[in-house]
Amino acid sequence: MDTFIFSILSVVAVTNIILGGIIFSRGLKVFSNILFGLIALTAAIWSIAIVGFYSEQFGGAINWVLFTHTAAILISSFFLAFSVNFPQKLPNRNYIISISAIVTFLLVFFIFFSDYIVGNTENNTYFIGIAYSVYAFFISIFFISGFLFLWEQLKLSNDSNQKKQIKYIFVGTLISSVLAIIPDLILPYFNIFQFTWLGPIFTLIMVVSLFLAMLKYRLFNIKVVLTEVISVLIVMALLVELLLAQTPTEILLKSVVLAIVTVFSFLLIKSVIKEVAQRENIEKLAIELQKANDRLKDLDKQKSEFVSFATHQLRAPLTAMKGYASLILEGDLGNISEEIRNAISRIFNSSETLTHIVDDYLNISRIELGTMKYTFENLDLRELVDDVIAELKPNIEKSETKLSFIVDRQKKFLVRADKDKFKQIIANIIDNSVKYTKAGIVTVKLDKIDNIKILLSIKDNGIGIAPEIMPRLFAKFSRADNANKKNIHGTGLGLFVAKEIVNAHRGRIWAESEGEGKGSIFFVELEGGE
Ligand code: ADP
Repeated sequence: MDTFIFSILSVVAVTNIILGGIIFSRGLKVFSNILFGLIALTAAIWSIAIVGFYSEQFGGAINWVLFTHTAAILISSFFLAFSVNFPQKLPNRNYIISISAIVTFLLVFFIFFSDYIVGNTENNTYFIGIAYSVYAFFISIFFISGFLFLWEQLKLSNDSNQKKQIKYIFVGTLISSVLAIIPDLILPYFNIFQFTWLGPIFTLIMVVSLFLAMLKYRLFNIKVVLTEVISVLIVMALLVELLLAQTPTEILLKSVVLAIVTVFSFLLIKSVIKEVAQRENIEKLAIELQKANDRLKDLDKQKSEFVSFATHQLRAPLTAMKGYASLILEGDLGNISEEIRNAISRIFNSSETLTHIVDDYLNISRIELGTMKYTFENLDLRELVDDVIAELKPNIEKSETKLSFIVDRQKKFLVRADKDKFKQIIANIIDNSVKYTKAGIVTVKLDKIDNIKILLSIKDNGIGIAPEIMPRLFAKFSRADNANKKNIHGTGLGLFVAKEIVNAHRGRIWAESEGEGKGSIFFVELEGGE
């Protein structure tokens, strides 16, 4: 016999014994473990029997053909029993196992004690008995029934990992059985015997796939499996090489190479498994993060809805407070003393501040809920700024800040904008400049750029803005330290709302400042209308 085939078969036999031993060691209480062990052991015996069959020394001593044929029928019937028991025991199938056991027993009996199935001849051949087709028929039936039961297992299982296990076994055994049946069952029928040694080698595919499925050893990741298969193939090839070695130096060299490659393969597999595990972990975390994110978005929406509802409820009483305060201040309810006038005017101012705050919150919740509505109209921005300044006048006069508005009154500054919203944001920016300047100068300027764009700038010489604040100046709740320290009250929402509104007008808003204490300029740029 070819030493090469001899070496391969030896390695296959040893591998089968090792794999069978590993599963056996996991406990014999589980029936599928026993069945796997038996399959692996029978496959090993098959390899050994083929070696014996072809070997010069033992060729005639034992009737090896009987063993090779017994191995094939045993493997098919063990597989059938395995498919009924793995991963779960299928109910009411015991009778099938019993029938297959009896048939197997009978076939083995006839293999050993008659020439009906096979008979030995010399010269590495054997003859086919008259009942050979019965034998071949049962092997095929056992395999086919095994596949049908695996299919049933697949349908019954609702665990995705288990399904993968079953698919592994299904595919591995299918490839293996089809490949092995050709040289060992079909070709001998036509008196072609020289390829029977392929049978046990192909069976290894089945044994390995069963083994991996049973160990659930990260088998579900194709990358890991490929690394394992390729590493094992390389190690096995080197092992065969070693067995074929002739001289001591060759043996030594090949052993060293084998040892090194084995160690590196082991390390490689370990690192691939680690990498895959990490990736799986990350994927799991990403899913959890997504869920948490969805939940947060949901909560955020609920919060916006709540704020919107609450601020709506606050508006009505505030309007009433402001209305009555102004009635009293204007003397409509009779004369009042100076003391009362001061007190009422504080009430009026506070409720006005509160109205602005409520408006800001209302706008924020509208922005977040996406329910902000705009009614665009053609308007002259100069008139709008004039109106805003007129409305702010009482406040400005109370402060120690002077405000001037520089504009070419011959020109028109037509834009398409939502009047109320624009008024609100310009008022906010001018109000900020006054508020953050205390005593100084605020200059409002309206210009045209290239006759297309309209630029409104509001310049002050107040507390200024530190460079590190700039990037988040227009963010929600953003308030600079210098604003807080100076005890100037605010919510940090005005500029956020302003940016949203200007963006909705396809305009630009930005601020410039040389730093703290050096004043600031706020710009709003819009496309000019006709
Ligand atoms: P609020 O004024 O209610 O705090 P805003 O959104 O209108 O909120 O302004 C955000 C922050 O930007 C303010 O807290 C302040 O730190 C800074 N800021 C706005 N305008 C000026 C300005 N003219 N000068 C200096 N800092 C300003």
